Amino acid sequence: MIVESPTVLDAPSVRGELPGPTSARALARQNARESNARSYPRNLPIAIARGLGSYVEDLDGNVFIDFLMNAGTLALGHSHPEVVEAVQRQLPLLVAALDFPTEPKDEFTSLQLGLMPEPMRDRMRIQFCGPTGANAVDAALKLCKTATGRADVVSFHGGFHGSSHSALALTGLVSQKRPIGNAMAGVHFFPYPSRRHSALGGDPDTIGERCLEYFERTLRDPLGGIPLPAAVILEMVQGEGGAEPAPTVFVQGVREVTRDLGVPLIVDEVQTGWGRTGTWWAFEHHGIEPDVVVASKAIGGIGLPVAIVLYDEELDRWSPGAHTGTFRGNQLAFVAGVAAARIIERDGILENVREQGAYARAALEELQREHELVVDVRGLGLMLGLEVRDGASARRIQRAALNRGLIVELGGRQDAVVRILPPLNVTRRTLDQALEILGAAIAEVAAA
Ligand code: PMP
Repeated sequence: MIVESPTVLDAPSVRGELPGPTSARALARQNARESNARSYPRNLPIAIARGLGSYVEDLDGNVFIDFLMNAGTLALGHSHPEVVEAVQRQLPLLVAALDFPTEPKDEFTSLQLGLMPEPMRDRMRIQFCGPTGANAVDAALKLCKTATGRADVVSFHGGFHGSSHSALALTGLVSQKRPIGNAMAGVHFFPYPSRRHSALGGDPDTIGERCLEYFERTLRDPLGGIPLPAAVILEMVQGEGGAEPAPTVFVQGVREVTRDLGVPLIVDEVQTGWGRTGTWWAFEHHGIEPDVVVASKAIGGIGLPVAIVLYDEELDRWSPGAHTGTFRGNQLAFVAGVAAARIIERDGILENVREQGAYARAALEELQREHELVVDVRGLGLMLGLEVRDGASARRIQRAALNRGLIVELGGRQDAVVRILPPLNVTRRTLDQALEILGAAIAEVAAA
């Protein structure tokens, strides 16, 4: 049985113009004091008072369905009561412990290794990182560079791996990179098999094969210009890149070629990991065994920060202290992660992701049939995207949805993809509320 957190917030309700007066004051204070680099509140102008399950309430008492979910972090929605209880039990005992062994960490480690597919379980090791996805991506690069003694790295168009200097170097987002000269050298971008946006263009049905062929031929070409890389990093579904799933033929092919060449394959599961796509790990959809898995976001149970790298022990050739960091021992995140995983298993949440994901996707496809403005619907599980004609329309849809009580994220090229990231335990009822709002928002923008 699927239960969202029992909550007093269970329906969207927006009274009046946004931002309301109290939120407006909070936003003005933020505007006056915080960095110009702040991002989300610029397009979603609300100040948040609390979150429960799928819903958040702003400082003016407006209630929204939150399908941004802290950028896809909150697998069980905001403040799931059982996870909160686990954290409260741990809080007076021990919070921070560098990388010393502790019982919560031991349990968390057993859980993480146990969630790996059977053949990988016994040969994977775990590195606890500074608690962000970007830090774990950095760690994975250092691991692979050290183990192979090589310097170059391969990434893909449209990829997103974080905002630290080297994670940004692997990221496609040109606008973020432009002002930052000399990000990590030796990164080579290859075409990603996006059906609509791949650099190779042409027939979308064969884009996986053609991107694979380009990848393989270039890496094997003695005149290809790229020394054998230390690693290839790949998302199974590009999240920030606009909910772009990689086809199996491509993923399996990349795995075969990298194995043959002796290049470690890093799968970035920061956003896809822990059930977002309907399996614990998104790479399971393709039956591959990566050498390295990077995870963060959902593994902290209710949004507590934690990030890890799981990797084949053959790569474990770095030295003691090779990747230090003060906040690698967040015990609250460990107990929260364990509690959340138990709930995901107990309540059949992965099944819910597949079921509600298929339902939501069908509804989005219906919206595509109704509105010419919608040009594509794609994704996997509850990581869905609806692409519209241009970024300006997507921005207007995002705002029209907010005005009606639904928070959604944008992504992809020109931010033209409206992204839907519900909690994994979302109920049909909440999903229906959200889809109705989204339909109304699209209709409003299409009619304007
Ligand atoms: N990798 C992927 C696939 C991501 O989606 C993100 C964050 N959106 C990151 C890495 C970076 O994670 P963080 O923001 O925690 O550094």
